[in-house]
Amino acid sequence: MRKLFVATSNAHKLDEMRSIVSDEWQLVGMHEAGFRGDIDEDGETLEENAYLKARALFDHLGGGWVIGEDTGLEVDALDGRPGARTARFAGEGATAQENMAKLLHLLKGASDRSAQFRTVITLIDPHGKVHYFEGICRGRIAEQPMGMGGFGYDPIFIPEGYEKSFAALPAEVKNRISHRARALAELRDFIRHLEEKPAP
Ligand code: IMP
Repeated sequence: MRKLFVATSNAHKLDEMRSIVSDEWQLVGMHEAGFRGDIDEDGETLEENAYLKARALFDHLGGGWVIGEDTGLEVDALDGRPGARTARFAGEGATAQENMAKLLHLLKGASDRSAQFRTVITLIDPHGKVHYFEGICRGRIAEQPMGMGGFGYDPIFIPEGYEKSFAALPAEVKNRISHRARALAELRDFIRHLEEKPAP
């Protein structure tokens, strides 16, 4: 089974990613891989941040198949904000509750509540070549938080085609339709394609 190193310290993300691809890959988190340093996520875009994470872990390991992942919530009425600032929307070190409260406040009375989660995965392959994958899940911001599952902004994000938030839907549903699942599906197709190619 292929080992993929994942540059995240977020246990929720790692759990979700494992549920999505555990049949095919062994995912090793950066702590398990012995990387304990902080990674500066000071890029302006999800792409930059996903790359910074993957690069830090790849350099630490000196090779291997390494992925970095960054996710942002892009709200149409806010011109795509908070985007790359999703984790720090209500300030450095803000909790999910504070971030959600700020967003609900900004959207108070708004008729357009459409939004999307966008995940970017950067893969650095063992040759050091960099590849990007993207997954988008469209939906809308709820009027108030609902549900106890998931993490981050899940209580206020209702995916298209559903009436409940990600936090209120079963985890299997989120893991089938989410931004992260879609980005991982692209990555999976890419790696399968590589494996099918005859050796030169
Ligand atoms: P990062 O990708 O770890 O930088 O996360 C950015 C922000 O988005 C954090 O506040 C996360 O809690 C939030 N986030 C990332 N993925 C999800 C998700 O699948 N659902 C809800 N919130 C998420």
